[in-house]
Amino acid sequence: MREIPGGFIDGHWVNSEAPGRIAIINPANGQAIGHAPAGCETDVAKAVVAAHGAFAGWASTPVAERIAILRRARDGISKRSDEIAALITQQMGTPISFSKAAQIGLPLRNFDVTLAAMEEIAGEEVTLGRSRIFRDPVGVVAAITPWNFPLHQIVAKVVPALLAGCTVVLKPSELTPFDAAVFAEILNDAGVPAGAFNLVFGGAETGAALVEHPGVDMISFTGSTRAGRSIAAIAGGSLKKVSLELGGKSANILLDDVDYEKVAPAALQQCFVNAGQTCAALTRLIVPRQHKERVEQLVGQLADGWQPGDPDLPDTRMGPMASFVQQGRAKRMVAAAVKEGARIVSNGAELPEGLNAGAYMTPVVLSDVDSDMDIVRDEVFGPVLCILAHDGDEDAVRIANDSEYGLSGGVWSADENRAFAVARRIRTGQVVINGAMLDLEAPFGGVKQSGLGREYGRHGIEEFFNLKAITRP
Ligand code: NAD
Repeated sequence: MREIPGGFIDGHWVNSEAPGRIAIINPANGQAIGHAPAGCETDVAKAVVAAHGAFAGWASTPVAERIAILRRARDGISKRSDEIAALITQQMGTPISFSKAAQIGLPLRNFDVTLAAMEEIAGEEVTLGRSRIFRDPVGVVAAITPWNFPLHQIVAKVVPALLAGCTVVLKPSELTPFDAAVFAEILNDAGVPAGAFNLVFGGAETGAALVEHPGVDMISFTGSTRAGRSIAAIAGGSLKKVSLELGGKSANILLDDVDYEKVAPAALQQCFVNAGQTCAALTRLIVPRQHKERVEQLVGQLADGWQPGDPDLPDTRMGPMASFVQQGRAKRMVAAAVKEGARIVSNGAELPEGLNAGAYMTPVVLSDVDSDMDIVRDEVFGPVLCILAHDGDEDAVRIANDSEYGLSGGVWSADENRAFAVARRIRTGQVVINGAMLDLEAPFGGVKQSGLGREYGRHGIEEFFNLKAITRP
């Protein structure tokens, strides 16, 4: 059992003032693997005071030194990667192979890209008219993160914020405190000075206390649209800067010239990876009406290759969902859709033996859905794919844009230029063409109900600056 007694505040582990503890449950078997503090306003206040106290010193530390410290932190993660990958799998059920490749691989790559971007920015002098333009760090940043890519999302906020000269209070998801605790140790070992990085634990209440605290200058949040709206409303009261990376219901458009045999396995991967618990998951497969039946058959059969299994086994492709709450919600959404007339085209096989104690769910592919059903409009955050029919490129764009969300999207075509033209008209923060992998050098974020602001690379760092002009006569 792992026990975390309190937060990492001002360079030390400090016992939490909260009486409550949160049991951390392994979703593969329902067993507790440890506990973390429930967190409280007092913990938050101590952390914000520490971040405030450290700000002037950290902001005036030469950029080259900040870069060197964070480069050591990157190596620290690399050295402890097996331990962190195992922790992530135990906390949220993603297969160990995926933990090693993506849950560790993405943050390492993010470190590299962000460090390189900061080196570039540091060397730039900007003059406009009679003014010199400076980038000042925003101040104390509250970073609030979810559980689905826990370390990746922490790194995507904390590393650019620290590089920019901000100080940070991090509150990770209450489901995944352990990788965050290791991250705090790594930053400390790398030489991040006391107070520049602080860590508090707990759920929505601790998060809200952080958002409300007058000593916080900016909130960088990744999570649900529901929580994002509440955070933006509270932050509006004191005009704190806000960056929000929220949910999605992204479209994957197949144009009528694709090789369906080739595309179908990739389209399933783009939806089911991490048990569908990916904000940018492509969950609406929009296919030419004349080929819909063929696609249904193909993806229905292929979905059986995504049957869940023990996440500790090296060949498992899909583990349990991250929690029983998540599993219950996804299953209820599928049942409601079927009641409204949706048809399950995947086999829906029974769970393999021995998995009944975990938060498992077999993947589901639904057809005969229409665009006003909740299953098409709302984010499921589980292994559920909806197939919709389009009548040409124009119509496909219309269906893709018929969503409150605007996070991501995909387009497949034998003609890359045709795919590009369609991608340009999808109203989202990013679109991938023909199965392209996530590019951490490009800005990532949403429009509409998917959020405000961008992460990763140069654009991710720029969020943590205020621009200042000094003008000569
Ligand atoms: P969540 O909103 O429930 O929680 C996210 C974090 O916010 C947690 O740390 C939680 O404790 C905290 N929190 C919850 N309510 C809060 C409130 N009112 N005030 C302050 N803090 C609060 O989301 P989740 O279930 O952890 O994660 C899943 C969601 O995250 C999905 O909707 C997914 O799409 C989204 N997500 C978005 C991105 C992106 O980059 N756009 C990436 C990953 C996940």
